[in-house]
Amino acid sequence: MLYIYYFFIRLVMTPKDFISAIKRLQKIYKIKIRRGKPFEILVHGILSTRTKDETTFPAQERLLRMADSPYKLSLLTTKQIEKAIFPVGFYKTKARMLKKTATELLEEFNGKVPGTKDDLLKLPGVGPKVASLVLVWGFGLPYIPVDTHVNRVSKRLGIVPKDSKPEETQQVIETILSDREKLIANHLLVTFGKDICKPISPLCYRCPVYDLCEYKEKEYYRAKGKISQNISFNHYI
Ligand code: SF4
Repeated sequence: MLYIYYFFIRLVMTPKDFISAIKRLQKIYKIKIRRGKPFEILVHGILSTRTKDETTFPAQERLLRMADSPYKLSLLTTKQIEKAIFPVGFYKTKARMLKKTATELLEEFNGKVPGTKDDLLKLPGVGPKVASLVLVWGFGLPYIPVDTHVNRVSKRLGIVPKDSKPEETQQVIETILSDREKLIANHLLVTFGKDICKPISPLCYRCPVYDLCEYKEKEYYRAKGKISQNISFNHYI
């Protein structure tokens, strides 16, 4: 399948180079495997959609202090959940989803978070990214949740086409990486995406995988970065 994909679509980055990039980034960021309770990861996943970590983590803590199990969460009113998770993005919708999810877990899964993608996708507010987060961090299974950072970095590197959707990117990179690499790939690429391969103006001039990357504008951004570094340096002499 992957061979056909590469042969016909003619992606520019090879799987071998992608693996090299991952290994190089791992040496720099030294990402450890994340683990947590499946219910906590599920709450985190639902809250984190379109919300920054700085807002998600405190909101998650506030909610879990009030309700650390599906049963306790089901006893809260939607208003109480809204108050606990504000100001996460779409907090009203997410509060409704969380309450429905808690009820569904009690009615369909004996109050436990299920450990398969198919079952997780049956829960309200759970899409492929959240399901994969629960599987990899909650159950230690080899999945790569693809969010906006992972998708952007994968597209710029050239391992997937420019118009690749998160689910398509996930399929491709999960086929390439080993199970052990899959356990850290999300955290690693998100860290790299926030640190260097930023959404706007990537810092290509100090990128550790510059030689492997196939992003067309990498030379432009490298030159731009070097110029602005010189400007700020000259400013002080
Ligand atoms: S060279 Fe630039 S675009 Fe390519 S991975 Fe590095 S920072 Fe991202």
